[in-house]
Parts: sequence; C-alpha cells; structure tokens
Amino acid sequence: MQIISEKELKKHGTTWSLSWQAVALVNQQKSVWPLAGANYRSLRAVETKTFHFGLFRVECHFNPGRIRSSAANTSEEAIRSRPCFLCRDNLPAEQGGLPYPGNFLILVNPFPIFPCHLTIPSVHHTPQLIKANKNTFLRLSKDLHEFTLFYNGPQCGASAPDHFHFQAGIRNFLPLEEELPQLLKHQSEVISEEGAVRVTALENCLRRFIVLQSAHAPSLTAWIGGVIDSLDKRGQEEPMINMVTWYAKKEWTVLIFPRERQRPWQYDAEEPLKMVVSPAAVELCGIVILPRREDFEKITAADLEDIFGQVCLNQTQFNHMKEKLATFARNGL
Ligand SMILES: [Zn+2]
Repeated sequence: MQIISEKELKKHGTTWSLSWQAVALVNQQKSVWPLAGANYRSLRAVETKTFHFGLFRVECHFNPGRIRSSAANTSEEAIRSRPCFLCRDNLPAEQGGLPYPGNFLILVNPFPIFPCHLTIPSVHHTPQLIKANKNTFLRLSKDLHEFTLFYNGPQCGASAPDHFHFQAGIRNFLPLEEELPQLLKHQSEVISEEGAVRVTALENCLRRFIVLQSAHAPSLTAWIGGVIDSLDKRGQEEPMINMVTWYAKKEWTVLIFPRERQRPWQYDAEEPLKMVVSPAAVELCGIVILPRREDFEKITAADLEDIFGQVCLNQTQFNHMKEKLATFARNGL
C-alpha cells in the first residue's frame, strides 16, 4: 500500500475537495491496479431486476465479485486464523490510499457495488465498534459529502469484524436516498422534533428503522448514542446495527437499522431453497447483492419481504425501542 500524492491524483481528476480526491483515487486505482480495473469494468455489466412496492423499490444486483463479502465466514475462529486484510502491512502492493485525520485511510474497494466505492479502515487493528467512532462517522460524511457513508456492525455484514472500518459509495445510488422524503412525508412517526435533532421512526417498508436529521453534530452524536442504548446488546459489546449517513444542505441524515439476525435462514439452507444473501447497509437501503446467478433468477418480492422481515426487528421489539426513544426525548438523553 502506498499513499498517493496530490500530484499523482491530479492526473486522474480534480482535487479541490476530499470527495473529488476520492473520485480521482478510484480513477487512479482503476488505471494502475488490474484487479480493480477489471472489477470496475465488470460492474458496468451487472444485471439488475427491480421490485416496486408503492413508495419504495428494491433492486437486486447479480454481482459475482461480491461472493467474498456475502459468504465471508465471520466466526471468531475463522477471523483468528486468517491474516487481517485491512491491516496496512497486508494490503496489496498495488493499493493506493489517502490519509484521513484521526488515523484512517481512504482506500478503493476493489470489489465494488458502487461506481465509486471506498473502504475506510482505521490504521489500527481495533474491533468493529461504533461507540468510539461516532464523531468520525459524522465528520467523515461531511468531508466526503459526495458520498453516502455506512457502518456495518460486526455481525451485520462487516466482513472484517476485527478491524474497524467504514465504507462509502457515491451519493444517490441507493434507492432509499431518493425515496426517503416521500416515506418521511407519508408513513413515518415523529418521535421528537424539539431540540436540534428530528427523530423519526419508519416502518411499513419491509424494514423498520430510525431516521435522525440535524445540523448540530454534538446533539446528533448524543442521539446516535441514545438509539444504540435503547437496544438490547444480547451479551455483545454493541447491539446489532447498520448505520448510513449523508450530509446535504448543511444537515446530516442518519439512518439506523436495528437488527435481529445476521443472515436469513435461506443462507444456510440446502438447495434448492438456499440463497446466498447477507444483508448489510446497502441491502437495507434497497440494493440486494446476489453473487450467484441462480439466486438472482429465482428471488421474488415475497422472498425479499421474508428476508428483510427476518433480519430486522419485529413489531413488538421496534415498539419497545420507540417507547425508550420517546422517554429519552421527554427526559433528556
Ligand atoms: Zn487488521
């Protein structure tokens, strides 16, 4: 891994903001790293099919390059017995990166879902836990404002649960980004709109999740902590969650998806019921990655409803969470 200089970046795009530097980095990596070049080229040929559900849609993408991530063995034993692929010493020689203040590296994901797809690991081999990184999550999304930033919890789609990292994809690629205003207008429940953070619950869209909107980072950080604290940790260091954020019009939008399980039963089923689908933030925002053609061909709207239903909280659990958040809103965090 080598740090790419601004002079080198300038050969591949404009560099006046971190977002544009990251786009230039993707271009640079495509040109010097054959694996990245080939995988970004094949992304253009990804087959898709779209299911429409009223105010929202779910796109299924047949993306064989993602098998490594979808089928990642994240058991403790498997993690212990492999070299960490996000530690700097183990990164491929062709990989280039940009330093980000706070001991992070901005890297190109060589197995992309997005036309510009970044992996942003800590420079330290430290576990995937959001608690100590909430401020970085918001700061980074503001600095990378042309990108949507996401965090997958250690048992919620992160393929390196032992090494802290974010991912980012170019904005307006995920269906939910475009659909959110209409969903908030027509089928949301406001939990709190006094103070600096608007807290809303969204359901009846296959998924149940919380939306936080604010221009004030400290209040937003406190509310992210509040949402996390409202969930059952089930003996782990943090509850199962995916988080997504973007910064636009001087305000953050943060989506928090509380999770019930890592993968649906179909993942471990025998053929012909088996489906390799491992929901993470991208899936919950409306793009379901299917690395096997047979799954792409057979998946139906009913399967999507079933899969989302299994991995998200059920109605009773979500109601319980909403009650706790309403109490936070009344009594303070
Ligand atoms: Zn590591």
